[in-house]
Parts: sequence; C-alpha cells; structure tokens
Amino acid sequence: MTAPRVEIDLDKIHHNAGTLVERLAIRGISVTGITKATLGSPEIAGTLLRAGVASLGDSRIENIEAMRRARVPASMTLIRSPMISQAERVVTHADVSLNTELDVISRLSSAAKEARRTHGVVLMVELGDLREGIMPCDVENTVRETLRFPNIVLKGIGTNLACRSGVSPDAKNMAELSALADSIEATFGPILSIVSGGNSGNLPWALSCEDTGRINDLRLGEAILLGRETLHRQPIDGLHTDAITLVAEVVESKAKPSLPWGEIAQTAFGENPPAIDRGRITQTILAIGHQDTDPCGLHAPTGIKILGASSDHLIVDSGGSTLCMGAEMTFQLNYSALVRAMTSPFVARVIKRLVPV
Ligand SMILES: *Cc1c(COP(=O)(O)O)cnc(C)c1O
Repeated sequence: MTAPRVEIDLDKIHHNAGTLVERLAIRGISVTGITKATLGSPEIAGTLLRAGVASLGDSRIENIEAMRRARVPASMTLIRSPMISQAERVVTHADVSLNTELDVISRLSSAAKEARRTHGVVLMVELGDLREGIMPCDVENTVRETLRFPNIVLKGIGTNLACRSGVSPDAKNMAELSALADSIEATFGPILSIVSGGNSGNLPWALSCEDTGRINDLRLGEAILLGRETLHRQPIDGLHTDAITLVAEVVESKAKPSLPWGEIAQTAFGENPPAIDRGRITQTILAIGHQDTDPCGLHAPTGIKILGASSDHLIVDSGGSTLCMGAEMTFQLNYSALVRAMTSPFVARVIKRLVPV
C-alpha cells in the first residue's frame, strides 16, 4: 500500500463524536464538529453528522466549499474571522461566520444583499487568551451595530480560549460569557440562540460539575479526532486516541554507533546532534520527514524511540533487530503532526470503516 499515509478509522471517529455529543447533551450543550484538521473531508464530516453533531465548522472557506461540493448536508460555520477579500465566497457557502470587526460584517452584509441571502453572525468576545475577540466593554455597542445591517442575522456570541496563550476555560470566564449573554438580552430581547463556549480545551470544564450557565455550544475538533482534551493533552475517558494514525515505510535499517563522528556543525533543522553514547544501536530510517508531518508530534510504537528527523527522513532506534525494507511502522499523532500530514501533498489518506454507508 502507498506510504506514507494517514489512516482514518471512521468507526472510531463516530464513537468519539457520539460519546462527546451524548455527554454534553446532558449538560445542555450541543456540538459543532470542526473539520479544519481534515481539510474538510466529506467522509469525516458525514461521520460527525451521523454521530449527532448539530452543525459543522471550518476555519477555511476552501474546506467549506469542498464539503458543499460533496453535498454534505449541514449548517456550516466559518470559524476564522472572514477576510474581506473573501466576503462573497463566505456568504455563498457558509451559513454563519464568527466575527469581531464591524467593517467585515458590513462587507458580509452587502455581499449577502447582493446574493439575496442572509448570513448568520456570531460575535466573538475576548476573555483573556488574546486571540480573536471583541473586548467585553465593546460588545453591547457591536451588537447594536450588527443588528442594523441588512441581510445579517445575529445568531449569538462566543469565545475562544486555550489557543494562543493557553488560558483555561473555567467557572469564572465561562460565567462572564453567560453574564454577557444575559445583559445583551436584557437590552435587546431574547436574540441569542448560540452561546458558544469554546473548543476542545473547554471539555474539562464542561464535563465537570460546574454549572454550564448559558453556554449551549462547543466547537470540537481535536477531542473528536484524537480523543484528548487540549489543556493537558490527557486522553478522554472512553475515547479512542488512535482513530487517525500515520504509517511510514522503512528504507534503511542497520546496526550503527549511536554517536556521530567528525567535527560537528549545524544540523539541517537546528536540532541537537546525538550527545549520549549508547554504544551500537539498530538505527532504522523511515521515508517520512518535515515535509510530510511534524516529527516532534509523532508517538512511536512501544519499543521504538524517535531519534531525529530531516526533510525526508525519520530516524528511529528500532530496538534489538534490524527491520525489513518495505516494512511499515504506525505512529499516533498530535494535532500539529496531524494537520501537517493532512495538508502534505506527499501523504496519502486512507479511510477505514467496518460498515460501508
Ligand atoms: C480550531 C478551532 C476550534 C476547534 O479547536 P479544537 O481544539 O480542535 O477543538 C474551535 N474554535 C475556533 C475558533 C478554532 O479556531
């Protein structure tokens, strides 16, 4: 089979998504399934929908367009603030977008009017992580202005934590979002159908005993695909962490010294050269490297130790014996390795599922 390849187990993804949908439903929270790490894969999108996610979201309009072309039947949200230069594409293909700038909403409004469509807007609020978001004191005014734009429907408010600065969603910042929702509705009436609390980093909070308040939506990608929450990257109880794996092929396997010899200068990627003498080891090279994935985000099988990587080579200590040429090795991935592998033209994607649909 072609290598390197990402193997995607749709049954495991279905299980992960369904389990999270069920656990959050008890707490009054629905799930927007985020497809950005999968390049908007229609098969994965369909699996998320069958598992019960309420809608889909992606950060790239290209991915949303791909899902539209594949006739994925869902409401779709563009989760990165739209570029003005893409306003027409956004109103044509996305039902909703997350927004923080009135100039952008204004352009979406004219584009929607032109296209005789309405476009939904969720206003994102800054609660400390310092990525996208309107400062809380400016939210009321932004709501007032947003309500004035023709062909724009204000759907709700949301926030995003844990991405840029690692700020944890907790009782305090989530209560602040709930309080903002209440105060907006005290002024403008019951207009907010969505109060979106955040991403996979919100799961420890949402699944704990805290009162979830007004939060009724989470946007989940990594937790579904990789089975981990994202604050401490701990596996989530009952979820698969190997729904997506990366397979690479052996192209060299020899007993070699563990230490390089000769005068040592810089390496190709600025990594430190091996410094500890562990005697002779079995060094195996896999045909995969920085051009295919993030080698630092790979988790090797038991007994295998990753030693280093360059553009095209991953070097591992394969334990006792040399491996056959053409043998394959399967790695688990973190988010960075997954995104790089899914977007590399050199890595094939193979979908596995038990029951054809
Ligand atoms: C990527 C992203 C998400 C999903 O994050 P995960 O950690 O994959 O769950 C949610 N919201 C926004 C705005 C994002 O950019």
